[in-house]
Amino acid sequence: LSDPEAMLALAGEIEAAAAGRPQAGPIIGGQLRSGEAMEVKNPADTHETVGSVVLSTAADVEDAVGRAARAFADWSGMRAEARAACLDRAADLMEQRRGEIIALCIREAGKTIGDAVAELREAVDFCRYYAARARTDFAAPQALPGPTGERNQLYLHGRGVFVCISPWNFPLAIFMGQVSAALVAGNCVIAKPAEQTPLIASLAVRLLHQAGVPGDVLHLLPGDGPGVGAPLTRDPRIAGIAFTGSTETARLINRTLAAKDGPIVPLIAETGGQNAMIVDSTALPEQVVRDVLISSFQSAGQRCSALRVLFVQQDIGVKLEKMLAGAMAELKIGNPAWLQTDIGPVIDAEAKAMLETHAQRMEREGKLVYRNKLGAECAGGHFFAPAAYRIDNLNRLQREVFGPVLHVIHYAADRLDEVLAAVNGTGYGLTLGIHSRIDGKIAYIAERLRVGNAYVNRNMIGAVVGVQPFGGEGLSGTGPKAGGPRYLHRFATERTLTIDTTAAGG
Ligand code: NAD
Repeated sequence: LSDPEAMLALAGEIEAAAAGRPQAGPIIGGQLRSGEAMEVKNPADTHETVGSVVLSTAADVEDAVGRAARAFADWSGMRAEARAACLDRAADLMEQRRGEIIALCIREAGKTIGDAVAELREAVDFCRYYAARARTDFAAPQALPGPTGERNQLYLHGRGVFVCISPWNFPLAIFMGQVSAALVAGNCVIAKPAEQTPLIASLAVRLLHQAGVPGDVLHLLPGDGPGVGAPLTRDPRIAGIAFTGSTETARLINRTLAAKDGPIVPLIAETGGQNAMIVDSTALPEQVVRDVLISSFQSAGQRCSALRVLFVQQDIGVKLEKMLAGAMAELKIGNPAWLQTDIGPVIDAEAKAMLETHAQRMEREGKLVYRNKLGAECAGGHFFAPAAYRIDNLNRLQREVFGPVLHVIHYAADRLDEVLAAVNGTGYGLTLGIHSRIDGKIAYIAERLRVGNAYVNRNMIGAVVGVQPFGGEGLSGTGPKAGGPRYLHRFATERTLTIDTTAAGG
């Protein structure tokens, strides 16, 4: 985005692509099914129809799972190299079709241009990273140590039909991350995208098919959770589930799995967070404000990794709040298709209503630090004015507030342990920020907090594939970490082969 010429070229591609009206629907055996279509609206301008979607039926679920189960033997029997090559080609295709993808991320998901570019980058990185991991981990068996006269080998093998259920907030990156990992590990995949973002998912599946993934190996079933997601999780033919979304939905899926007969299947769940940043009086205030703004408000706060609760040492609390209010006042909220926009809309009317209800409660129970005003350009969409409130303690927040709302708590320097207990006490464990210039204190905090990804003296978002493998613990998920060296292994089953080498020909 910093090279003006490249940006101009990209803007042209985005504009050309934005004229299209894509259609999504069940893609089964490589074919898009027709039916009664619903319009998909732009969250920034609800008068604008972005495209249309046909929802999946029970018969579609049945057909897709049956075909995937029948295709499994051939796909899992292929060399890992051939499956990895499909992912590399999909990554190339995404780069070639970047204008179309970025335009859809903006119009269907309300992403700003910067966020949409980052989303595309992450999806490409996932494909290339998992392709590379599959080449090293799946291509040949691993030799294991054993007694003399015996050779032991460990094989990784696909499990069967994997269901991938994804959220709307990273409609391409998380979708592609789950699906590409499941495929390259040797599974057939039924992908269930979020109901809000079927168009991006549909494009992603078409690109994977074009890249060489057979139609019967990968199917797309758009629809809602109860209508499509739940029947998939109940199906006795599935071998695993990769789920990213809310903690509440992960619990529902867990209950379904516990109640059903048939094989015991793994659930890889990446869920919500109640992420904190702890700032002491040695921190550099300008740096803190810059990082808080990014961590809390970028992507309209609709990131699982976003900062929700800022703990500030009380002697600098008021000063920091003033600086924060001044910086928030500069944020530009509006059409995400405009380059100058910092914050776009939230995803839908339900999200906006939930956030407004929370803001009303905070206005009663907390102290307003700052709330932005929305301009006329926000009138036609699901815009929510970013807000920051000071609250007295963390118990005021029972659940994740998924949007641009920051909560500030002042703490006394001698009560740091209470802060750490409160953060651990939420039960979530996704991201953490620390701003301090005291090495000993940084280590003390990092050692005591149970979180998946901690960041010191920087913002808390934007984990890079292969650099900061991402994922939480407790209420925030099961791991293994996405974009990390062990993520693919959970999609596979391990088999050992023991050969007696003292036997003739051994
Ligand atoms: P959600 O739980 O409402 O939906 C996620 C997916 O689950 C959707 O595809 C939905 O249709 C499906 N679903 C809903 N009910 C279901 C059921 N009974 N059975 C099967 N599937 C069902 O979450 P969301 O609102 O789409 O996404 C936002 C949430 O995702 C936030 O909590 C956020 O923190 C979390 N998230 C976590 C990560 C991470 O890596 N930890 C990343 C992104 C988002």
